[in-house]
Amino acid sequence: MDCVFCKIINNEIPSEKLYEDEDFIIIKDINPVAPVHLLLIYKKHVPTINDLCEDDRRRFWKVFEIIKNISQKLGFDEYRLVVNNGASAGQEIPHIHFHIISGRKLGKIG
Ligand code: AMP
Ligand code: ZN
Repeated sequence: MDCVFCKIINNEIPSEKLYEDEDFIIIKDINPVAPVHLLLIYKKHVPTINDLCEDDRRRFWKVFEIIKNISQKLGFDEYRLVVNNGASAGQEIPHIHFHIISGRKLGKIG
């Protein structure tokens, strides 16, 4: 699979994993837009939210818990979550991920 996130998950591209469980990893974005810019990446290659099936959905309940825990661990409690869902929404890598952005005052989304 020619997908950069699958390669990171499979350790074909080295990365510093700040968190890992059976379903998700967290890494630092290679091109950060703020002092804190993490990516919470689903381990299974699902391109967009629109492609999730029942089995995937039941794994997503813990996403906010994971995000809350990493924010407490790294010491930031205010942050923006972004999911670019589809190319026209700015999604460059078609493999579901959440951007976690913090560390500076953020402007309006648009
Ligand atoms: P998106 O445009 O929502 O698909 O976001 C993809 C993000 O992945 C961008 O913010 C990129 O900077 C980031 N990215 C691309 N390649 C890597 C990589 N090898 N390691 C970490 N982040 C990456
Ligand atoms: Zn993938």
